[in-house]
Amino acid sequence: MRCEDVRERGVIEQYVTARLTDPEREAFEEHFFECDSCFEAVELATAVREGFESGARTSFDPRRLAPWRRLSLAAAAVLLIATGLILYRSSTPPPDPAIVALGRLAEVPPYFPEPAVRGGAERDSAQELFEEGMALYVAGDFEAAVPTLEASLILEPTPGRSLYLAAARLRSGDARGALGALEIAGTEPLLTERSRFYSALAHLQLGDTQAALEVLRGVEDGEGEFAVEARQLAERVQQLLGW
Ligand SMILES: [Zn+2]
Repeated sequence: MRCEDVRERGVIEQYVTARLTDPEREAFEEHFFECDSCFEAVELATAVREGFESGARTSFDPRRLAPWRRLSLAAAAVLLIATGLILYRSSTPPPDPAIVALGRLAEVPPYFPEPAVRGGAERDSAQELFEEGMALYVAGDFEAAVPTLEASLILEPTPGRSLYLAAARLRSGDARGALGALEIAGTEPLLTERSRFYSALAHLQLGDTQAALEVLRGVEDGEGEFAVEARQLAERVQQLLGW
């Protein structure tokens, strides 16, 4: 199996969703143990899935491989996401609807489709899926956009695509899944402040005001593009809490 076959046939997505036949799976495993780019793609795909598959299990757990593979950024993201989920699970009073409402993402990040290039390079299937998902996103159908964007990310995860997926998940009520995608989006410096602000919204949707306020304080202190919004939101949260 070669990298091109992996990309063209959507093998990574099928692998992390346990949809490959045994011989296909064995052939792919043989390849990705030798291939850094496919290995990282599997790790990130698993990280993306961890966010929305709270109960379900996939057959692959990259942490089992950690002792003999370098701990990459992707694996670190998986650990961060898992830690976040554990912290959240250990403190779960029923969320206050007024707090949850404050976590609404009023304006999603804008998306401008790339103009089709005449006679240009062939678009890969990850890009095609991404554009398909973003057409639904632009039309405001976030729930329908989520699975298509997920499929695109599983094939080729990038921080930018993760941000759009996070926004779509926030708008369709999957705050926990949004946190997972935001960990990846935030690795891009240009997206860090926005990702942190969105993760505060996700914490509010989950009713975790303490985590939300902590993140908002950090965004405010960073004095970046979301500092003012972060301060205003923190004030509203504190008002609701009666501080
Ligand atoms: Zn490969």
